[in-house]
Amino acid sequence: MKEKEKVDRADKAKSNIEETLNRLYLQKRIGPEWGFWLLVIGYLVVSIAVSFIAGSSRTVVIGGNVVSFYAFAGVLSSLSNIFVILLTVFYKMQGFIFAVVLLLLDIPPILMGIFLRGNMNSLPGIFGNLLALLAVIVIRFNDKRVITYQQELRNQAVTDMLTQIPNWFAFTELVDSLVKRGEPFAVVSIDINGFKVINDTMGFETGNLVLVDLSSRWKEIADGGSSGTRDFICRLNGDEFALVIRDFRTEEEALKTIRMYEAVLDDLRESSGYDFYITASFGYAFYPTDGKDMDSLISYSDIAMHEIKDTASSEHILRYSQDMHFNERTLEIEGKIRTALERDNVYFMLQPQFDMDHRLRGFEALARMRDVDGSVIFPGDFIPVAEKVGLVDRIDSEVFRKSAAFVAELIKKYDRELILSVNVSVRHLVRSDFLEEIRTGLRESGLPGNCLEVEITESIMIESLEQATNDIEELRALGVRIAIDDFGTGYSSLSYLNTIPAHLLKVDKSFIDSMNSSEKSKQYVAAIISLGHILGYEVISEGVEEEAQLGTLKEIGCDYIQGYLWGKPQMPEEIEVLVRES
Ligand code: C2E
Ligand code: MG
Ligand code: MG
Repeated sequence: MKEKEKVDRADKAKSNIEETLNRLYLQKRIGPEWGFWLLVIGYLVVSIAVSFIAGSSRTVVIGGNVVSFYAFAGVLSSLSNIFVILLTVFYKMQGFIFAVVLLLLDIPPILMGIFLRGNMNSLPGIFGNLLALLAVIVIRFNDKRVITYQQELRNQAVTDMLTQIPNWFAFTELVDSLVKRGEPFAVVSIDINGFKVINDTMGFETGNLVLVDLSSRWKEIADGGSSGTRDFICRLNGDEFALVIRDFRTEEEALKTIRMYEAVLDDLRESSGYDFYITASFGYAFYPTDGKDMDSLISYSDIAMHEIKDTASSEHILRYSQDMHFNERTLEIEGKIRTALERDNVYFMLQPQFDMDHRLRGFEALARMRDVDGSVIFPGDFIPVAEKVGLVDRIDSEVFRKSAAFVAELIKKYDRELILSVNVSVRHLVRSDFLEEIRTGLRESGLPGNCLEVEITESIMIESLEQATNDIEELRALGVRIAIDDFGTGYSSLSYLNTIPAHLLKVDKSFIDSMNSSEKSKQYVAAIISLGHILGYEVISEGVEEEAQLGTLKEIGCDYIQGYLWGKPQMPEEIEVLVRES
């Protein structure tokens, strides 16, 4: 880059900080333009009137008394003084200059009146003007002190005390103004890696020194324009910094700038003689491509920064992308699950299952979770997260324990044979204490083993066949029934049927949905049912919503159905009514 260009950029960078500071705090005590001219003209008109009156020997009669005209000159000249004072107060430097000039311009005509025409009536006018001049100077002087003081406060408010670079406030102010102007830029969130370790092992003093040292080097790049882009660096708090980059043409250029800031960390070690490595994580997002407002941009660059920090790779720079939200969302849901478990807000609903003559077979227990605000969260939202973060077995257990107690009660009270189906995720199934938990659950609830059915999804069975098969054998020994959930959605369903020691196949809703519109789906369902029967399984269809589906299922020999047509998932109280009346 040419020298001149560099200097231009440096100026721009500086003016950029100044600009922000100015816009942030510049007091709006300047009056409107028309007010300024009104005061100036008012002053001139009144002054001319004063000089006429002062030279006049005419009189007026007021209330029977004869009053000479020049007696009014004092009143009018006080008025003109008020005008100049208002100018100084409301129009700062410009008002002050006009006020002084106007007051000084007034003096020669008065002197001329005195010396040429011997009109001594104007003499007090001179003192009036001099006093007004003094007042205006005092006001201006005081104003200047206040302004200097305010400026100091301004600088303090937008400067980080430790490092003397702009702070969070200046940063948000700049980003906000760029968004308003629609100017493209990149926001970079920077966090020093393992800074806590530096503090803990080297002491706060060293930690602070590193921050100050680093800041001043970064500021040098930002102010010096050596990156080739227009940058603004600030410290947000602790070991967190933010960089705003402008005037780049491609992502590559922005990235080059970030790498330059990253390189400072290596230099720092070499030139300052610290005997530890310092690295930082950089996450960035572009306006307007990645985010359209300040809050999302800042949070997006932050998400990217945390993402690259967590991956512990040798690369420390990452651009935000939408799929990173999954992590954030996962964290949020994980928090909700933990809270719900702590506060006993995980509960169950029961969805009835019927045979083809509408006789009640039993129920599937479905997990629900109450959020802190009282709203219900459905398993589609929390089960995948619970599986990922290792909480699903706790949910399974909660649902099993509570629903088993309830259904055991129903069986006793109404002397009915009912089956309770519970969903078990593979993580749970392969836990060493899974069987023990089932045994304890059965014992404590009093639910007979043959009234319990464990639903395992087919894909899970295939992935951990051996372990699952062992557990299933043990469960069968307890009299517990096994159902293969979502059957048909796995990749090699039919071929595995032979090896899975189950009792019931649950045909997935997706096949039932398309069964009546696609002959192929209907044939597929028919094939599952007949093959299942040949191999000794019973078959239930999930998600039956229409009479027509029911008709077809009867026709092709399905054993049971579960679906909104005959029963949605319901709360225990409603289920009790259903059992009593059926
Ligand atoms: P699933 O085991 O296949 O359960 C059937 C799902 O289909 C339930 O959704 C049920 O409400 C819904 N459903 C049943 N009939 C109909 C119908 O006619 N129309 C429609 N549109 N939907 C119907 P839900 O309760 O949201 O559960 C979703 C999935 O979450 C379950 O699918 C199961 O895989 C999982 N899940 C639920 N509770 C638990 C639990 O306690 N533990 C574990 N590990 N997973 C659970
Ligand atoms: Mg199920
Ligand atoms: Mg299912």
